[in-house]
Amino acid sequence: MSAVADQPIELVLATHNQGKVAEFQRMLGARIPGLVVLPYEGPVPVEDGTTFAENALIKARAAVAHTGRIALADDSGLCVDILGGAPGIFSARWSGTHADADANLRLLLAQLGDVRRPNRNAHFHCTIALVVPGADGSEPREFLAEGEWAGSISYEPRGSYGHGYDPIFEPDGREVTAAELRPDEKNAESHRGRAFEALIPQLQAVLAELG
Ligand code: IMP
Repeated sequence: MSAVADQPIELVLATHNQGKVAEFQRMLGARIPGLVVLPYEGPVPVEDGTTFAENALIKARAAVAHTGRIALADDSGLCVDILGGAPGIFSARWSGTHADADANLRLLLAQLGDVRRPNRNAHFHCTIALVVPGADGSEPREFLAEGEWAGSISYEPRGSYGHGYDPIFEPDGREVTAAELRPDEKNAESHRGRAFEALIPQLQAVLAELG
């Protein structure tokens, strides 16, 4: 995208998490010169969707409604086959307490206590929603970019990188957990890295269209 190199393009990321804003800035800014990711400072909507896509869209639509800017939002989680895809959209609060990562992964390990390989298959999923405000009162346009990372649940937590369920997720083809991968190694193959790859051409097309 060369047409935008000399002028900042600002879009808002529907999160209050500064770490996520920095991650989006790094991942998108490296590919789209002049792109600036702003944190969203408005009201947080209730995430009452039943899929990752619905929840990502709820957040991005709220940010567009509040700011009038192009907005992005992501929603992700861990889906375990034998649990019918759970924790899924409930990943962050699986143990009942939002974002208590250690309690979440310990509960999941306990639930899989008697389950042996190969029945511990799982994947991480990430959906990024892109919502572009409509010009002259027309409806906003919505785009979805998705990525998955297949693997299995280990018997014990291992590793100290990453966050969430990383210490108990062993990506297919590796003998380490996601928490034993360096951040650059994880980004190169993770669900989130793949969702970014899918997002970039869509975002480039929208920005080219808007001039
Ligand atoms: P969020 O939608 O990115 O906030 O992620 C929701 C929850 O899914 C997090 O709180 C984690 O429990 C889990 N999760 C999503 N992505 C990852 C990952 O890359 N590693 C470990 N856990 C993750």
